[in-house]
Amino acid sequence: MNRAFFLDRDGTINVDYGYVKSVDQFAFLPHAIEGLKKLSDLGFLLIIVSNQSGIGRGLYSLENYQTVMKNMQERLKEKSIVIQDVFFCPHSPESKCPCRKPSPKMILDAIQKWDVDIASSFLAGDKETDIQAGKKAGLTTFLISATDTNYGQNHTTPDLLAAAQLIEKQYSQACLKRSGNKMTNHTAAE
Ligand SMILES: [Mg+2]
Ligand SMILES: [Zn+2]
Repeated sequence: MNRAFFLDRDGTINVDYGYVKSVDQFAFLPHAIEGLKKLSDLGFLLIIVSNQSGIGRGLYSLENYQTVMKNMQERLKEKSIVIQDVFFCPHSPESKCPCRKPSPKMILDAIQKWDVDIASSFLAGDKETDIQAGKKAGLTTFLISATDTNYGQNHTTPDLLAAAQLIEKQYSQACLKRSGNKMTNHTAAE
């Protein structure tokens, strides 16, 4: 089984401008890249789960979204950071789709697809709906926030690097035996 770190995108990895419609509106948050690098080095599969209702609302197109994601992944690849998979909900809230967070559907689909060990996996997000989705899926949750807002998350850290450092410090036993970013056979290596 694999350990995964599930990530919201806007407000967690990059600055949330309400909607991020194009590459020039995409700016990494402080310490986000270092955090992703550390999480990857700790052996987590990095999986993004993102509500992108701007597509369903007609504010930007699926193609705009894909261009932003491609650019983001290229910039991370330059730092040897691989985003394993990206799940997104393109629907508007009014369409009452099954995937939009706080539904855990995208996370559960990813857990199944990547054979994720829920007990040793985490989620980080900046909104209550992220925390709710993560909790419903059984993950340990991080709220990325400068304040101590309580949505029932397990931890609150100002950025992804602080989250990665906390995991390294507090979950360093069985959890962190695995290293590298291999997709399969983690269990066999133990
Ligand atoms: Mg967000
Ligand atoms: Zn949806």
